[in-house]
Amino acid sequence: MNPVQTRPPDWHTRSLDDLAADTGADLRAGLTPAEAAARLKALGPNLLTPPRRSGPLRRFLAQLNQPLVLILLASGGITLALREWVDAGVILGVVLLNAVFGFVQEAKAEKAIEGLATLTRTRALVMRAGSAMSVPSEDLVPGDLVILQAGDRVPADLRLVQASELAIDESTLTGESLPASKLSKPLPAATGLADRLNMAFAGTLVTAGQGVGVVVATGDRTETGGLSRLVAEARSQETPLTRKVAELSNRLLYVILALAAVAFAVGLSRGQPVFEVFMAAVALAVGAIPEGLPAAFTVTLAIGVSRMARRKAIIRRLAAVETLGSTTVICSDKTGTLTENQMTVQEVWAGGVSYPVTGLGYVPEGEVVREGASPEGAPPEPLVECLKAGLLCNDAWLVSEQGRVTVQGDPTEGALVTSAAKLGLTVALREECPRLETLPFDSRRPFMATRHADGSIYLKGASEEILARCAHALMEAGLEPLDLAAVQRQIDALASRGYRLLAFARTSGESLDALSGGLVFLGLQAMRDPPRAEAIAALEACHRAGVQVKMITGDHAATAKAIARQIGLSGNRPLRVVTGAELDGLPEEAWGLVAEETSVFARVAPHQKLRLVDALQKNGHVVAMTGDGVNDAPALKQADIGIAMGITGTEVAKEAADALLTDDNFATLQAAVEEGRVVYENLTKFIAWTLPTNLGEGLVILAAVLAGVTLPILPVQILWVNMTTAVLLGLMLAFEPREAGTMDRAPRDPRAPLLTFDLIGMILVVGVVILAGAFGLFAWETQRGAALAEARTVAVNVLVTVQLFYLFNCRSLRHPTHRIGLFSNRWVNSGAIAMIALQLAFTYLPVMNRLFQSAPISMAAWGRILVIGLAAYLLIEGLKALRGSSWHEAAHGQMPSDLRP
Ligand code: ATP
Repeated sequence: MNPVQTRPPDWHTRSLDDLAADTGADLRAGLTPAEAAARLKALGPNLLTPPRRSGPLRRFLAQLNQPLVLILLASGGITLALREWVDAGVILGVVLLNAVFGFVQEAKAEKAIEGLATLTRTRALVMRAGSAMSVPSEDLVPGDLVILQAGDRVPADLRLVQASELAIDESTLTGESLPASKLSKPLPAATGLADRLNMAFAGTLVTAGQGVGVVVATGDRTETGGLSRLVAEARSQETPLTRKVAELSNRLLYVILALAAVAFAVGLSRGQPVFEVFMAAVALAVGAIPEGLPAAFTVTLAIGVSRMARRKAIIRRLAAVETLGSTTVICSDKTGTLTENQMTVQEVWAGGVSYPVTGLGYVPEGEVVREGASPEGAPPEPLVECLKAGLLCNDAWLVSEQGRVTVQGDPTEGALVTSAAKLGLTVALREECPRLETLPFDSRRPFMATRHADGSIYLKGASEEILARCAHALMEAGLEPLDLAAVQRQIDALASRGYRLLAFARTSGESLDALSGGLVFLGLQAMRDPPRAEAIAALEACHRAGVQVKMITGDHAATAKAIARQIGLSGNRPLRVVTGAELDGLPEEAWGLVAEETSVFARVAPHQKLRLVDALQKNGHVVAMTGDGVNDAPALKQADIGIAMGITGTEVAKEAADALLTDDNFATLQAAVEEGRVVYENLTKFIAWTLPTNLGEGLVILAAVLAGVTLPILPVQILWVNMTTAVLLGLMLAFEPREAGTMDRAPRDPRAPLLTFDLIGMILVVGVVILAGAFGLFAWETQRGAALAEARTVAVNVLVTVQLFYLFNCRSLRHPTHRIGLFSNRWVNSGAIAMIALQLAFTYLPVMNRLFQSAPISMAAWGRILVIGLAAYLLIEGLKALRGSSWHEAAHGQMPSDLRP
């Protein structure tokens, strides 16, 4: 059996030879796929056992632990003690139904959110049988050779065999906040966990450099697996909005309980029987408290999360759903988000000569065109050296899978492998000139350097960075002093056509420490990265929605500007470009204005991204920011909503983000903003529906008690109506599809209160209609000589019917309901049909008549009920038309006018 399983605690003391022997691993080529598969079968996947959730019974009981339910339970208990079997049964039935419903909804919402975790599983780069490949992290086995790069999450416990500038943030494990600098040599046995610099532990994050390590422990056998406290990272599912709603419900709860107490006291003082008064007070409380509110919010948010997931945006924190809806500025990367990240070198400029390159994509088919030269003749040295530098100073591999050639590694580097191959330089050259040392690419120092066995050093990177270090240029005739002006002209010409540029240089030496000057410039490679076609439409949608979009890129200003123009980044605003160097010289007070008026920020350093976000936020914006690199993490955290790239994003960036785009696509981000707005709209609709219906129900009882008249609706009947309508009618608004015009409005002001003036007006109008309708028809029936049970059944049906019609009013708070399509939300229609069926049963089934003291009513009575329902409906539609779109605008709270585009 594999010796690794015995898990000697002293991996850090092993020499590399011992390590190879102990793990049965080849420290260059890795395991063979067959051996890896055998070990996976024997040892199981590299997963931590999930923490035990509380059992279903406990979760069910948790549903009962709410103030309202406790009140209901207490009154149910009292009713039982008084031997009022029917009332007690109904009350307890309502409690049970409520709990079952809450339990099911919560389980569903939890499952939807849990399911998202599987979409964000990580992958690891391993060597298997001599080639690098990316595998799901759970397939790693002891003995696997894992390649670590800045931004990765360490996928298992590793003993390092190579480390170049490798730094790892181990704060989750050791509490140490500074990243640990790693090395590969053996350490003394007594070294403590935090000082084992030749180990990398599962779950920690690589913040810089590169390294290679052998897996020594997986799954629960890792150090992290041993610490159960780290297993679960509980994420609060509270959002600013749910907090606002909870506050509102709590406040309402107290007001209503006070009113119920008043009603109780008044009833008693009139000498009514204690039990009757008690039940009326309970019914008042139950009717008036909008107990469906929290459930509706959870469900609406959960539906939003899954709608977003369907559109490829994964929410990591629930609060992101609503923040997305109020976003006013999106700061987006260029490469991969607004462009395809499909690089093809189309021109090489070396020795002062331009060489067009034919072919598209990574397939090495095409040629480097040399006009006038015979194909047999040796290519000029500057051209060969420029392409050779691109091939050797490079960590990417091309992989051919099912006839498709893809890049393993950075697409920019992949394009350089392809361009070299088009001149006949293949990856075999990497074996011929083995690499001894690497200075990895880092966006804070945008170049990469490698030192090779023959003493040569190659560099590639951003043109400014490379040129600043060059004194000579390699020309066909040999070395010549660098003509900086000529190179700059070429750079400007290529970049203004939208090409992404890399400059190349070489030197020789014994180390990579001194690369500050005296290098030889080899040339430029210009690559095309086509803009994403979908980005154009998505940008248009953002402009219509009053959301500004800014490109923040590490790329050259002219390249960025050309791409911005191609995709219409700035809409009708002038396209202003500012570079990182210009930002550096900017006084503090100017940041706000520059951040506001500029659409393209080029050659931006990560710390400047952070300041830009901050400046925009100080201007009152809600900022969504995309990022993928390790250095983007602070800006992602600072933004109101940080969005990491699912494909190219590093684990560090994902960790810092609130949401992920699984396809890295700007259009997905725009879709997420849209869904965020729909969620907020639907929540507002639910509030607009539930508060007046609750108010109406409570008012009916309160008015009757205070006036000392016969209750037009019995407490059990209120319980019945309340329960059935909240579930079958109100909740269905969560499923309301997006309305026309959702993305044609300015963003909502996140500081706007939940209950706006208009909403309060609507609540009062509908509440009064319900009160008047129920009392009015009750009085009509009794005067007509109908039995009390019949008159009460009419009143109950008024209540339900008005709520039913009003539900359709609430399907849109801006448009007339007939315009949004009567069948566009089948949930509402199914709920309505179910509700009608239940009311018919309530009215006509003998068993229901016995339970609820209801009685069959006449067709004429139905006619009068429908007239009231229809009148309420038309009244609200009339109000909607009268207020026009301002109704909705007020309901949503608009951005202050100075921020409107
Ligand atoms: P964005 O932030 O929009 O994704 P970007 O990908 O162009 O932009 P960086 O990756 O920071 O931003 O690249 C900045 C510059 O660094 C590029 O213009 C290029 O010249 C250079 N560069 C990019 N990748 C490499 C690399 N692997 N090696 C050396 N230089 C690179």
